[in-house]
Amino acid sequence: MRVRSRFDTPIIVALDFAELSIAIDFAKRLDPNLCKVKVGKELFTNSGPAVVDRLQNLGFEVFLDLKFHDIPKTVYGAVKQAASMGVWMVNVHAAGGGRMLFSAKEAILNFDKPPILVAVTVLTSMEQDDLSGIGIYTPVAEQVLKLAQLSKDNGLDGVVCSAQEARELRNIFGKEFVLVAPGIRSSNQPADDQRRVVTASKAILSGVDYLVLGRSITRARDPLLELEVIHQEL
Ligand code: C5P
Repeated sequence: MRVRSRFDTPIIVALDFAELSIAIDFAKRLDPNLCKVKVGKELFTNSGPAVVDRLQNLGFEVFLDLKFHDIPKTVYGAVKQAASMGVWMVNVHAAGGGRMLFSAKEAILNFDKPPILVAVTVLTSMEQDDLSGIGIYTPVAEQVLKLAQLSKDNGLDGVVCSAQEARELRNIFGKEFVLVAPGIRSSNQPADDQRRVVTASKAILSGVDYLVLGRSITRARDPLLELEVIHQEL
């Protein structure tokens, strides 16, 4: 049975581990009242739905971050499977286009408790040069807005974006539009492969609803303490 967290925390910890046992051992060091968890491509490719099930049984709400990007019918099927697992949030790439986004939304219409469906705009690891490298010469901020508009027009609940773009998105799309921001770092932490990084408190002030924290929690000596510190900062 799914145990729901008692407190709607804005923090999502990315369980970027290679194996189920490592992810579960780490999750046991966290608290479902202080964070939700994210299962991404590495962990899901290794462990499949079993890891989602185990995490839900520990009381965690799960964001299944598989960033689906395929033809509409395939994305429809994949999102439906995700919803059947009872995940709290699932995502697709907005760059898959309007018809793909519409199919993703259609896939969850008949669920009593559908997951929050969000679309990735421009990955937080990308900056202007990376966009030009794939033939997109639109400024990053404009490209994010364009993809967010496409997502909203096709019924999605919100987008994954950089906190750097959150304020503008919040102003344009209103308070109901869900904003999820990875690329969160405190000033004394390395940015790693991320490019558009922001601190947790600044992100919340900019209007972000959910913060995705990966390495800043998974690399911490005491992850629970780190979570408590971030909650106090917010
Ligand atoms: O370790 P770090 O905090 O950089 O982890 C960020 C997490 O958020 C990773 O799991 C990454 O896959 C995910 N993510 C991202 N950018 C997006 C969507 C998801 O960094 N646009």
